[in-house]
Amino acid sequence: AVVLGIESSCDDTGVAVVTSDGRVLGEAIATQADVHAQWGGVVPNLARDAHAAAIDRTVDIALEAARLAPQQLSAIAVTVGPGLGLCLRVGAAKARQLARQYGIPLVSVHHMEAHALVARLPPAAAATAPPAVRMAAITAAATATHGSASSTNSQQKQQLHIVPEQDPPKSHNQAVANPHNIASAAAALLPPGCTASPSSDTAEAKSVDAAAVLQDVGAAAAVPFPFLCLLVSGGHNLLVLVRGVGQYVQLGTTVDDALGEAYDKVARLLNLELRPHGGAALEALAREGDPRAFRFAVPMRKHATCDFSFAGLKTNTRLAIEQHLAPERTAAMSAEQLRKVKADIAASFQSVAVTHLTEKTRRGVAWARELVPERLQHLVVAGGVACNQVVRASLQKIAEDEGLALVLPPPRWCTDNGVMVAWTGIERLARGWAEPPPPPLPLMPALPTNVTNRPQHPV
Ligand code: ATP
Ligand code: FE
Repeated sequence: AVVLGIESSCDDTGVAVVTSDGRVLGEAIATQADVHAQWGGVVPNLARDAHAAAIDRTVDIALEAARLAPQQLSAIAVTVGPGLGLCLRVGAAKARQLARQYGIPLVSVHHMEAHALVARLPPAAAATAPPAVRMAAITAAATATHGSASSTNSQQKQQLHIVPEQDPPKSHNQAVANPHNIASAAAALLPPGCTASPSSDTAEAKSVDAAAVLQDVGAAAAVPFPFLCLLVSGGHNLLVLVRGVGQYVQLGTTVDDALGEAYDKVARLLNLELRPHGGAALEALAREGDPRAFRFAVPMRKHATCDFSFAGLKTNTRLAIEQHLAPERTAAMSAEQLRKVKADIAASFQSVAVTHLTEKTRRGVAWARELVPERLQHLVVAGGVACNQVVRASLQKIAEDEGLALVLPPPRWCTDNGVMVAWTGIERLARGWAEPPPPPLPLMPALPTNVTNRPQHPV
């Protein structure tokens, strides 16, 4: 089977074509970092416009790279949540349109499930995949001038260039993790004309042999179930026992911010480059610093749980910045001295953040082993922060100590991308969870991440 995956939950329009035996045939991604950099967070309606301007072209390029026509697809997978409702809707509308036009089944995908399950793609996938076609998000103004494969007419493109209706969010986390302010009821998000009953203009529905897909997936999958998964991204900080597809036991989550959001915030306070991600710039700067220069407290040490907290560390780091980088102090510093202080703060923040991640993960390994005795052999670390080399090295140490194999998706598939959505679509297709076209596909911007009951933590 061959599946097209569409991701548009936040600020990347990611599309990819992946096969059930674990090959990535084509990938394209339009990133919006330039659109949002000046606002200090993702602005939902600007993000929606950039997705709308990029979606057709991104799909076309991924299909071209795969040398496939839409008719040849077995299914289309699309992220339905969690994320920004306005943005999810763009990807889902495109998926529905293709599904209806070509009679292709649809698979709805949970964004965090996709971050986790991409780890099951065989390592050969990364080695053999063609390089992703990367584009800066096409803004409405740019498409109107240069034209694109988009099907919208130029008048519509002009209209896309709108002024934000609301103040930019104070933080990325606010935009992503608290979607209530941007999401209306799921039903209200369905575009007009999209109903559960088949319409006459729908192409004849294709069927998929789920058993054959399952056989392919079983032969290709690099990581068997169950595995322990640390998911660290811009909006989530989860420790999850993955017992199977759709079977997730949440062992820990953040009580306030996600680590990616804290990285972004500190990067902004230090005036670092926010493109493509503040976290990457902070990691680079931290390499020049002394991680013991500032002794920030390690969070949640007194809590006998696997939960995380980064708000206190964020505040302590901000206070250090305000004190040590106050204008009256920096005025007397050379550029070199200034850079050293910033690097020391970055390194100290990172060191405490990673210590906290590793302490809770270690605890999670013990807990997971009680839940699945004798069977836990793999630790997966995924989500955007898993690009970080210090995070990777620390988790490698835990894995070695605990006798687990550490599995890290390649960095380009840790941040948002179409490959993870396509692969998760395949995993769900293999279990017979596709919807025949035309699908109702309700969007769920606030899709809960604690999908299974959370067990009591043994104290
Ligand atoms: P979510 O997946 O929770 O909805 P998201 O999709 O915005 O949030 P991702 O795209 O998975 O998040 O990851 C982006 C986050 O990863 C950003 O917060 C970014 O700063 C962080 N990040 C990326 N590279 C690094 C790095 N090298 N070090 C630390 N953080 C990083
Ligand atoms: Fe993400």
